[in-house]
Amino acid sequence: EELYGIKNWGRKYFSVSEKGEVLINPFKDPESAVSLKDIATGVTDRGLDMPVLLRFENILDAQLSYLNESFNDAIKKLHYKGRYQGVYPIKVNQQQQVIQEVTKFGQRYHHGLEVGSKPELIAALSEMKDKEACLICNGYKDEEFIDLGLYAIKMGFKCFFVIEIPGELDLILKRAEALHVQPNIGIRIKLSSKAGGHWTESGGDRSIFGLNMSQIIAIVDRLKIENKIECLKLMHYHLGSQIPNIRDIRTAVQEAARVYAELVKEGAPMGYIDLGGGLAVDYDGSNTNYTNSSNYSVEEYCTDIVEAVMTVMDSSQIEHPTIITESGRALVAYYSVLLFNVLDVATFEEHEIPAQLDPSLPEEVHYLHEVNQKLTVKNLQETYNDILYYRDNIRNMFNHGRISLRERAVSEKIFWNTLHQIVDKKNKLKFVPSELMDLESAIADIYYCNFSVFQSIPDSWAIDQLFPIMPIHRLLELPTRNAVIADITCDCDGNIDKFIDLHDMNNTLPLHPLKDTEDYFIGIFLVGAYQETLGDLHNLFGDTNVVSVKLNGDGTYDIVNEISGDSVQDVLSYVEFDTKAMRMKFRKTAEEAVKMGLVTPSERRIIMQSYENGLLGYTYYER
Ligand code: PLP
Repeated sequence: EELYGIKNWGRKYFSVSEKGEVLINPFKDPESAVSLKDIATGVTDRGLDMPVLLRFENILDAQLSYLNESFNDAIKKLHYKGRYQGVYPIKVNQQQQVIQEVTKFGQRYHHGLEVGSKPELIAALSEMKDKEACLICNGYKDEEFIDLGLYAIKMGFKCFFVIEIPGELDLILKRAEALHVQPNIGIRIKLSSKAGGHWTESGGDRSIFGLNMSQIIAIVDRLKIENKIECLKLMHYHLGSQIPNIRDIRTAVQEAARVYAELVKEGAPMGYIDLGGGLAVDYDGSNTNYTNSSNYSVEEYCTDIVEAVMTVMDSSQIEHPTIITESGRALVAYYSVLLFNVLDVATFEEHEIPAQLDPSLPEEVHYLHEVNQKLTVKNLQETYNDILYYRDNIRNMFNHGRISLRERAVSEKIFWNTLHQIVDKKNKLKFVPSELMDLESAIADIYYCNFSVFQSIPDSWAIDQLFPIMPIHRLLELPTRNAVIADITCDCDGNIDKFIDLHDMNNTLPLHPLKDTEDYFIGIFLVGAYQETLGDLHNLFGDTNVVSVKLNGDGTYDIVNEISGDSVQDVLSYVEFDTKAMRMKFRKTAEEAVKMGLVTPSERRIIMQSYENGLLGYTYYER
């Protein structure tokens, strides 16, 4: 439990049982918890292969309540006179089931949806029932998009068009007049405040989206000329996603609230202040302002926002607006866990080195051996430089035919033995030289795992985002191996060699040795936000199986939905293969082999059956 930091990042939704298995516990009541290992076994027994993405609808429900209740508590505590009405940004996880569950669980808080494109609006209109909830339309809008939004207003939805670029207003006014609908207009503003984190370019003066102050004034003037200023009801900004520092959030709200107050003074009715996303998830559990963390709680976030908005409104004697946030990551990240099995392990064992080498070995190998024999705590850096030098020389000599394969193999044993000793001894140093810092990963085991980084955690590859990773069972045994993880794409980027900071070492993950008798299951946690649709088909590994689980509160669970992952046939059709034609072409190739006497007709039948099974099978490693 301590080793993997589960208490720090798990928000108590995850814990470790007395049996040493990870428990899932959305109700935060030990009686209701269920073992992830039991769910994994249950899923594989039903015939769904690993990797599997598990979604826990109770966690989504709990996170929605947590955000809404935290805002409601802050509003009550501070005597704020407006209300909070969140919207879920569809881009964060667009899967139909996710939107359906957000609208279902969100109904009691009138939690609405945010869309950033026409397809997202079309999806939202099919899922949304609650007419008290907000429907915020961001993004570039063409005529079709605007018409759909206007029809939504006609049908009673609280739909807002947020102007992202100045040119959009004309089209909105033109279509509203044509369809005889009074539009609800919002403006997205560019703040000068900029936050730290991966996505800082979404905010600040140079952000791509939003209007600067003179463009805002031009919109207000235009609305006044058109006698439509009563349509201006909302102000929006988005500072960026995963803002780890609460100070950045506070500074931005203050600036935004001032702009809001000025818009009211300009004569706009307003009523809604939309602060976008940014509420961060503490992926590494460090509770700091590092990129993968967050130095504030949800309660603190809500209190700071309500307080800042209230202070500015009170000083200008303006009615307290409805506060909207577009939190996505914080709502859905905890909701999904990716489970996979380990297929194999490569170890870089410390080989025994004889005190005397065979004199017939090349000189260069003797030099390397000498360095090995002279190693002490005092000359670690020098030894490291020397073994790299001799290793490279020996490789060169091998390439030029001056050293045999056997001789090179002896030199590599000496190299790895020395590296192991350097890693063991460097902990005795007061100051570890920077070159020796990350050596653990060089001698770590490689655990080959049945998943694709590119498909299931693309942000790990693209922006080095860290996710909590740990085995979901055998947690009473001390994990004796230090490992890095390789996926099955065989791409050199398809690996994970940075982990959340566990006991000051974040370049390897402690894992257990594999057993012949049982599968070893690893979970990657907090993957519910952004990963699913950003994932790609690298090496044609497709969508994984998805299983939605509902915990019943009495220690039992139901599988409420199963979505089979892509078959080989599916992924091939995504890249424009006509699978019918493929079957025909391969049948011809097999028939030619029969004609040439290479295979018999009955062997052809078996070959065609294998081809067919391959096409229909899962893209991942199947047992
Ligand atoms: N709103 C807008 C306009 C966004 O672009 C985003 C994503 O970056 C979000 C909301 C969601 O942000 P988060 O997931 O940080 O809550």
